[in-house]
Amino acid sequence: MPRAAGFHLHLYQPPRENPWLGLVSNEWSAWPYHDWNERITTECYRALIAVTLPRSEDGGTELFEPLMSSSFDVGPTLHDWLERCSPDVDRALRHQVCHVASSPSSVAIAAPLVHAILPLANAVDRDRLVAWGVADYFRRFGEAPLGMWLPETGVDLATLESLVRHGIRYTVLMPGQAARVRERGGEWRDVDAASLDTSRPYTVRLSEGRSITVVFGQGGLSQAVAFGDVIDDGTKLADAMMEVLGDSPDGMALLVADGETYGHHHRFGDLGLAWALRHLQRHYGVVTTLGQWLMDRVPSAEVELVGASSWSCAHGVERWRADCGCTTGSQPGWHQGWRAPLRQALDWLRAALGDAADAELAKLVRSVGDTLTAYGEVIAGALAPAEFVAANTARPLDDDETSTVLELCEVHRNLAYSFTSCAWFFADPAAIETGIVLRYAAVAIELGQRSLGRDFGPEFLVRLATVQSNEPGVDGATIWRRATEQYRFDEPLVAAGFAAELLACGSGARRRRGQWTIEDVETESGETDAWRLTLTHAATLRRRTFVARADRTGALSLRVSVADGGSGATRHEFELAQLGTDVVARVAASWLVSEGSLDFESALDLLVSDVLIRRAGDDDAAVLVALAGSMRCVSPSGEASIRRALLAITGQSEQAVDLDLLSPLALAVGLAELVGRSRRVRPGK
Ligand SMILES: [Zn+2]
Repeated sequence: MPRAAGFHLHLYQPPRENPWLGLVSNEWSAWPYHDWNERITTECYRALIAVTLPRSEDGGTELFEPLMSSSFDVGPTLHDWLERCSPDVDRALRHQVCHVASSPSSVAIAAPLVHAILPLANAVDRDRLVAWGVADYFRRFGEAPLGMWLPETGVDLATLESLVRHGIRYTVLMPGQAARVRERGGEWRDVDAASLDTSRPYTVRLSEGRSITVVFGQGGLSQAVAFGDVIDDGTKLADAMMEVLGDSPDGMALLVADGETYGHHHRFGDLGLAWALRHLQRHYGVVTTLGQWLMDRVPSAEVELVGASSWSCAHGVERWRADCGCTTGSQPGWHQGWRAPLRQALDWLRAALGDAADAELAKLVRSVGDTLTAYGEVIAGALAPAEFVAANTARPLDDDETSTVLELCEVHRNLAYSFTSCAWFFADPAAIETGIVLRYAAVAIELGQRSLGRDFGPEFLVRLATVQSNEPGVDGATIWRRATEQYRFDEPLVAAGFAAELLACGSGARRRRGQWTIEDVETESGETDAWRLTLTHAATLRRRTFVARADRTGALSLRVSVADGGSGATRHEFELAQLGTDVVARVAASWLVSEGSLDFESALDLLVSDVLIRRAGDDDAAVLVALAGSMRCVSPSGEASIRRALLAITGQSEQAVDLDLLSPLALAVGLAELVGRSRRVRPGK
């Protein structure tokens, strides 16, 4: 058995997509990047695929692939985003895992579909999240996983039982989670974080003769990597790891940290990691991957864990349901009394809406439990929704019933996402992360309304209203409004977005936008710029036909009118700014640059010259914000154009411009003085 020293990287970001649309909205705090996923991908994930290191032999350079010399997990929701939005990272990663590593399991372990604290989930959801995580891993890497990461290393015996039921053989925890250990057949001995020997694997005994292997990260150095600066010097870190390993003939020193530590939280941490790994391999000649070290190894010692526990709460898993004192980003006088009512509200919604969905689903499928487990393959992209429904029903279903089955499954998926642990992790519920889970809850409620004919919203809101932010006067109802109001999309609005692109972008108009596709586009007889079009939702297959008419009403403005395709009865009117920044930017680039153009930077330059000639108004503000917010990363010259545009639009003294709309952008590009100026609001607003 070889000895080993290496790293486990937990790569994860919360699901930032707008769940109505399926696209990530712009996050100004990630400036100059579009959103935090884009920024962290550039600073970290892309770097972890391959790092350039100097070669000591001849002064040249070489590429080193840190992940292939490590152990890691990628949260399925993050991996899904990488596949869609950073396909270079996804492809290189999957190529390395499937073709460079000796086997996928030698480097990559799985993770539950959602980053939820499994000991706090109900038994059904806990099992389902594990099953869905296994399905995700299988689709991406082509074989079943051997290991699974637990979000926040949140664990209890029920969680381990669930892992074993799904074929998982090991997980990674931290030393403070062990209570006592013994040699096989020997006496139990109490341990703590300081006294536990983390260089060896342990067995945890479970019910009915089952067991699972647990590997513990080395506490001190893991902490030093995450919160100190030891990653600055890879050689020194490697030496320290070997010192910790001491004269153990076949042990492992495993450092466990968030993957984002390397390059995002810690600049150049990707280089330090690669340097340390190369030194461990070439100088010390040790194995660096956990999977390879653990392969076929039968632990000779057993461990009993403390009760429910995690790596980021000293009180077990209280951080995700109580004001336990563990927090990040808190300020003097703040409290986290909001955590309990937030969890209680979501637990209530899960029970009330989830059970109602199950009862309805039972009328349409053979087994509710089996159907929802199998839905993991649809989420993973391994099974088409229609095939999935056909395989799980007792009788043939019509289109409406098929969509109802899928909507009920989506109720459960969205409820599951609403337990993403980040919502409770930070100091205040007014932060981005709590808004994310509330949006998923809102979509679950809407789907419930549609498929069950019952609105769980009012009762949920009564419970949510008891959440109190540390921001004076902000309660759960306010947080709910902020989290959902600007994000909600319905079918007429999506249809209007497609129509606006058909008008402005010509053949460059998208046929797919997030979760929505547009089909059967026909010009409405006798009318120009009016279309009959059919929308299909990718997850629920629900189809609706609309008649949409788009008119250009100014230099950079338009109006879309949308009516139901069958009755024509309900008519909705939209202006450009309402259609979503992705649509606004495409329309503007088409008009400013050329039809179908995606050159948002040139469009910005042309917008500046445009508003210097004519009078600027709110539409220009919306266009500016959309163009600035649609680039993956704004270049220095793009930023200069944005400043000029901001000054041109706000500098026209007779004009009323919505400064609320422009404030985040002005702050991002360092024009705070624009925000401080007295606010002029369009009359009548
Ligand atoms: Zn705590």
